Formats: sequence, structure tokens, C-alpha cells
Amino acid sequence: MNKIGKVNLGVFPTPVQKLENISAILKTNVYIKRDDLTGIGLGGNKIRKLEYLLADAKAQGAQIVFTTGGAQSNHAMLTAACANKLGMRPILILKNRGVTKPLGNLLLESLMGTEVIFMDTGDYADIYEEMDRIGRREGVPYYKIPCGGSNALGTCGYVDCAREISGQGIHFDSIVCAEGSGGTMAGLALGAKLYMPGTSVYGMMVDTDPFDQITPELMRGAKELLGVDIEITPDGVFYQDVCGPGYAIPSQEGNAAISMMAKEEGLFLDPVYTGKAFGGLIKMAREGAFRETDNVLFVHTGGAGGLFAVLDQS
Ligand SMILES: *Cc1c(COP(=O)(O)O)cnc(C)c1O
Repeated sequence: MNKIGKVNLGVFPTPVQKLENISAILKTNVYIKRDDLTGIGLGGNKIRKLEYLLADAKAQGAQIVFTTGGAQSNHAMLTAACANKLGMRPILILKNRGVTKPLGNLLLESLMGTEVIFMDTGDYADIYEEMDRIGRREGVPYYKIPCGGSNALGTCGYVDCAREISGQGIHFDSIVCAEGSGGTMAGLALGAKLYMPGTSVYGMMVDTDPFDQITPELMRGAKELLGVDIEITPDGVFYQDVCGPGYAIPSQEGNAAISMMAKEEGLFLDPVYTGKAFGGLIKMAREGAFRETDNVLFVHTGGAGGLFAVLDQS
């Protein structure tokens, strides 16, 4: 396997815990992978991706790091936190989509003194152009991270996560995660093929993009970078639509899942990603998708920053 540059940002391995009360309710063994405890910002999945992406930025001598996302992007907030730590200047160019009041992640960004620019466009291409315009104007080396950190390099962070899970002592029949830009799911799916053959991976789609195309594309890209010899087939890779009324708009099932997790286990999910994803897991369990003896792992990808902004608006 190729050795790819990586910086240490988070605290790994993150714990795997059994959700005893929820397991009893859903009549299967439900575990949680605590990637909400990755150790910087308020935690979350983006840290694993940023360990690769910001290593690349550093290696290229970048002084400015750009990224983008919706107004309440957890990824953008965590990119700012990590870039600051590594001595690079973050600039966030966010879509005018979602809660734009100074709440949630926007509040955290103002605490960090982060430069945030809103752009009124539906098209990320306009935003990447604006990054180039600002980068040229500033006249220093800059690095552009795509929405969600989901390119081949960022995806490698979740191949690592799959390897980590495979060493934590429990065989999982199924792994379930939220899918928003695809890198987390793609990395877990590729990593499962490498380290946990026979484990199914479910991407709970919280947006309407063609994830059945995006995911294998990212898997192929990460496979090339890592130099591993494995066939990218759809075997064991599944997608479920949990988007509900729309991206970043809370759903009834998602809110019910947030309540169940809070009440039964004392853990907090978020309305944009993890609540909807766990809602999808609950639905699958109720429809009999898991056996009583199955071990099902839910990957808690974070999202605490958005909890205080988005639910407030619903
Ligand atoms: C970004 C994000 C996701 C989705 O991960 P992708 O790799 O973008 O698909 C899930 N949960 C939270 C909390 C996120 O911030």
C-alpha cells in the first residue's frame, strides 16, 4: 500500500460502544463508533479527511486554505479549526443555503475569527472560481478543499477508519453512516472490502445527489492513491434515501431518532446528517433488515455545531 502524507490532528482510535437500551428496543445489537469524539472543534468525521488534505496543503506550501459548503457546514468549521492549528489561514466561501444567522457553526467560526464569505449561487463551480480570484489577489500559495472534503485523498481518511474498526474486536454484519458528499461512505465501503470482507455498508443519503455514482468514483480514486489491488463492485454497498423534505431541513424520522438517542443513551445526534441516518437505521431494524444476533455499527459522524442552529429553526 502507498504511504500518503498525513498530519496528526485528531485523537484515534475513537471508541466503539454498545447501545444497550436501543439494542433492546430494536432487537438487534447496535453499536456506535464515536467519530463525534475526534478531538478537535466539536469532533466529527471531517477530521480524518483533513489529516490527509491539510498534509497535502502543507506539502504544497499553502498559506491560505479555502473550502466551501452550506451555511452550517460542519466541514467548513472544522477545516477552519484545523488550518488555524497548522498555521494556515482559512477562508470559507459558503453557499447561501441553510441557516445563515450567526448561530451554530457560524457562531463557532466567529469565535475563531474565521473569514466567512457568502455567495448567492447554487453552483459550486462559481465558488471554486471565486477561490481562485481571491487566491490570486492575495498573491500567496493557496489550497482548495472541495465541499465536504470528499475527493479521493479525503476518502482515504475513512479507509483508515475501517481499518481501525476491524481492529476493535467485534465482527460487524453491517456498518451504517450518513452520506452527504460521499467521502465517508466511500472510504468505509472501500475499507470494508479490504479489512472486513462480508460486512455490508449502508450509506444513508441526506441529499439528492447520485450517490450510487459518486461513491464508486471516490472508491476508485482512493484505491488508485493507496495502490491497493481490489475490484470496486457494488457487492455489500447499499444506499438508503433518508433526505425527507430536503438537505438540511429536519425530518420527522430524523427528529424521532435524535430523541431516541438522547433519551435512551444520553448521546446527541444532529438534524442534518446523523439524526436522519440513525432514523434510517431504526426504519431498517423495524422492517426486519437485521437479525437478533447481528452486530450493527452506526458511525456517529458528529454534527454538534449544527444541532444548535438547525433544530432551533424547525
Ligand atoms: C459531512 C458530514 C457527514 C457526511 O459525510 P460525507 O463524507 O460528506 O458524506 C455526516 N455527518 C456529519 C455530522 C457531517 O458533518
